[in-house]
Amino acid sequence: MAIDDASLERVRRAADIVAVVGEYVQLKRRGQSYVGLCPFHEEKTPSFNVHAARQFYHCFGCGVGGDVFSFVMELEKMDFLEAVRHLARKFNVEITETADRTGDRRGERDDAYRVLERATTLYQRLLTSPAGVRGRDFLTRRKVSAQMQAAFGLGYAPPEWDFLAKRLPKDGVRPELLLTTGLCTRGKSGGLYDRLRDRLVFPVRDPRGRVVGFGGRDLSDAQDVPKYVNSPESPIYHKGSELYGLDLARKSLRDSPALLVEGYLDVVSLHGAGFAAAVAPLGTALTEEQAKLLGRFAAEKGVVVLFDGDAAGQAAALRSLLHLVNAGLAVRVATPPSGRDPDDVIRDDGPAALSAILDAAVGIEEFLTKALLGRHRPEDALGRGKLVEELAGHLFVLKGSMARDVLIDRFADKLGVSNRSLREDLRRAVRETRAVAGDRAAPVRRVRPVPLEQDVRLLLFLLFNDRERAGRVVGEIHPADFPESVRPAVEPAYEAVREGNLADVGPAAAKLEPAAREAFFRVMAMELDEEEREKALVDCLDAFRRRNLGTELIRLKAELKDAYRKGDEERYRKLLARIDSLKVEEG
Ligand SMILES: [Zn+2]
Repeated sequence: MAIDDASLERVRRAADIVAVVGEYVQLKRRGQSYVGLCPFHEEKTPSFNVHAARQFYHCFGCGVGGDVFSFVMELEKMDFLEAVRHLARKFNVEITETADRTGDRRGERDDAYRVLERATTLYQRLLTSPAGVRGRDFLTRRKVSAQMQAAFGLGYAPPEWDFLAKRLPKDGVRPELLLTTGLCTRGKSGGLYDRLRDRLVFPVRDPRGRVVGFGGRDLSDAQDVPKYVNSPESPIYHKGSELYGLDLARKSLRDSPALLVEGYLDVVSLHGAGFAAAVAPLGTALTEEQAKLLGRFAAEKGVVVLFDGDAAGQAAALRSLLHLVNAGLAVRVATPPSGRDPDDVIRDDGPAALSAILDAAVGIEEFLTKALLGRHRPEDALGRGKLVEELAGHLFVLKGSMARDVLIDRFADKLGVSNRSLREDLRRAVRETRAVAGDRAAPVRRVRPVPLEQDVRLLLFLLFNDRERAGRVVGEIHPADFPESVRPAVEPAYEAVREGNLADVGPAAAKLEPAAREAFFRVMAMELDEEEREKALVDCLDAFRRRNLGTELIRLKAELKDAYRKGDEERYRKLLARIDSLKVEEG
């Protein structure tokens, strides 16, 4: 779906940014703007600014900024359309939605969601029917309450080959849809049969609560079948970018750290024991995308990694850690006693025992140090060499040399060999590993603004804030005379001014690279009175002209030299005349 421009404009006008932000942040008036504590990063003194006149927000602390739509998108984790609809409802604005070109694909996706929802219901019903006794027995043994079964939508897939393959087409579901959603596979004879048979079914839901796939745990205890079977990748299911339980956990993540556990059952049993922030990757080690997804919800309180106490679990924990650090999350690791998983701990010793384990969670460097010291002996040269090599292998995954250097220093201290040589060894090893693997770009955090000349700053300000003077700027200065870094914002401003309007600050800012955007927001936050504006305009136009004259002169002089060297007398004379006239103009 798409929303037409007129509707968008109506919503933009109705949804006052001060009112919208004010619902989440306590704002105080300061000059022409409002300030409050930033909802996007933790702070004690307010650096979050909302500008009523130009309808944008900007945080000097973490650099976020934009218009009313981007604010709602960021804070409510909505996409653009959802944010517009949300604000339209809130401010009673009628909007017209039209099907866009991706309408067909959207329709197919909606069909897929509906089929998976229908399958979930069928599996759920079966679990509570006489046929579901095997599933119920398993859940009773695992002490999973009826309440949790319902919350997670657990179900039972019967041993039949065609439970869904027979029923769903009767509801009008096309056979292709059974294949694309992965509910069924095609047999050698061409017929469809169910993927999950005699299994406890865990519906996997996206953060908005829509079922996108299933995980099925074997109940037959047969030797030759995998313990878990998962839905394959589909247009709506990407295993590597969903987290099990996130739809239920997301509310808790505002108040407590996320608990990253290994599997479906851990998540269900932790939620049942009151640990509602538990989520799990889907049958694989945590991916970079999953870490980023978690980062969107857990940025404030961070993550505690709680994997099984066995060697495999600890190795997986280690791999997950670095992705989480890269996603900008504060990470700690809690380790159950050797050989047990979190689910065992709750069942055998109760929730308090798990709380104690969580309280004892350690930071990443402590966890890594312990893991490495368990494998290598730093006392002798060989052991230390191996330790450094392995540590370097982990550290090079980290983005940004800052984070890496800080960790290296902390490791050196932790290992009790805090001398310069260990740091040097590590830095060299990290460099070498990186040289082999190729370094990745560092994420941009706390952006430093690009430096802008004062006259550029003032003209930018006028262009977005002063209708009358913006007209004079547009009349006298070419957009190409602005530095390249801010030009993507300048161009829409010129367009708007030529139509007698001022461009919106938020959307223009969104066109800029982070460093330029940061500088741009700072310029937009300036406050100038009438007199200052007029003086700014006169001075700046003059300065701009001089500067451009200056660069033109340099260019002409270079050409002059060239003409002289080549003995091109006519060109030489023309250039000289042009230079003289410019010098007169310059005064
Ligand atoms: Zn902030």
